Amino acid sequence: MANAFELRGKRVLVVGLARTGVATSLFCSACGASVTATDARTENAIGEVLSQLRTAGVHLELGGHREETVLEQDLIIPSPGVPADAPLLKAARAKGITIWSEIELADRFLNGRLIGITGSNGKTTTTSLIEHILRSAGISTILAGNIGTPLISRVEETNDASVTVVELSSFQLELIDSFRPNISVFLNLTPDHLDRHHTLEEYGAAKARIFENQTEADSAVLNADDPATTKYAPAKPQVFWFSRKQRVAQGAFVRENEIVFRRDGNEETLLKLQDISMAGAHNVENVLAAVAATRLAGADASAIAKGVRSFSGVEHRLEFVAEIGGVRYYNDSKATNVDATLKALDSFPGRILVVLGGKDKGSDYTALQKLLREKAILALLIGAAAEKIEKQIAGSVAIERAGTIERAVEIASHAARPGDVVLFAPACASFDQFENYEHRGRVFKDLVHQLERHAASTSSGGR
Ligand code: ADP
Repeated sequence: MANAFELRGKRVLVVGLARTGVATSLFCSACGASVTATDARTENAIGEVLSQLRTAGVHLELGGHREETVLEQDLIIPSPGVPADAPLLKAARAKGITIWSEIELADRFLNGRLIGITGSNGKTTTTSLIEHILRSAGISTILAGNIGTPLISRVEETNDASVTVVELSSFQLELIDSFRPNISVFLNLTPDHLDRHHTLEEYGAAKARIFENQTEADSAVLNADDPATTKYAPAKPQVFWFSRKQRVAQGAFVRENEIVFRRDGNEETLLKLQDISMAGAHNVENVLAAVAATRLAGADASAIAKGVRSFSGVEHRLEFVAEIGGVRYYNDSKATNVDATLKALDSFPGRILVVLGGKDKGSDYTALQKLLREKAILALLIGAAAEKIEKQIAGSVAIERAGTIERAVEIASHAARPGDVVLFAPACASFDQFENYEHRGRVFKDLVHQLERHAASTSSGGR
């Protein structure tokens, strides 16, 4: 928990009125702060929530902000979507105004213990699994952050016995001050969001701030197999490692198909790899991280085994959709970066028809070449990034420019043979053709279900 903070009488500016901004405004106002909320969008574009904010006494400054408003605040809380180097924040910083992310503020009102999870990929899966395991262990658990509801809107439910499990992005960690998880988890670090963080160094350093305020009483869980994160191992908290490839002195690892947890020389065998129902080696990593974090949080071995066995994964993350005529279809719409797509390709033995493309985030798709050559038989390209991807993967696999997801599914369904896998793992953001990755994933699943219905009606004599 971070240092306490008095909001009463403070002038607070909330920047950005998406879910987090709305929740933050309401919270601060209820605590007696004088709150102004600003958004570049106009009243019409934001819609309904405005009346709720007005009723709560929040002043609104829409369609942009006035510099004077920014400079007269005691505290500014930008939404995760606002870059830390935005001109408005630069001006405020120059004047010495405190700028915090919502998690920093929330932590100051939080009771009980806090588990924070960060990394480039696997955060949502691991966060959900940790929550699921703790619940099966009978521990009072609250799930918050990027996943589900903003932390600030859950703090009042926390108490001395509760464990709050929170998914943390680099954008949130970039603007902390004394935010302190009791257990921190840093899953991995691969290039992503370089359109915003500029360099991998800067991006990694923002994530590693998760450890910054931890003390000797706290624990940190890190991936021993990922050299990009091992270098961030912190000095103060007790470090526990997780590894698929090597035995670790403290933490969770795989030994002869079993998951083992080791602490202070004591070993416990918790479950078998076959007990994990999610596909892919990357999900073994997520399980190992979750095992370590939940064991440290006090879940017993049998609850951990039961929790892992009964967890089938999260929607849009290498999600099995259907098997049609011996062809299996997987929705991995959340594969919005190259590393997630590599992990998806690596989860199957071969004969993959993969759908790639969307909005480019400055990624290097040449990294896909090796696995495409080994595992894929066809790459179907969609969206704005198609041309760049085609250039960068040329020669590694047969390519078709499908343009749209509808066309890609149609082509894949004709080209696939029994035993093949049709994998939607686009390696790009979705905003060129869809509202978000969830929308994109649902469209893909709907198309597959249409195929399924069509196949069922033709096999039952066309009725
Ligand atoms: P995040 O919340 O970090 O975006 P998710 O659990 O939502 O993570 O998964 C995002 C994407 O990354 C999905 O395509 C998923 O299949 C893939 N993924 C999940 N876990 C890992 C991991 N440990 N390493 C690499 N990719 C992963």
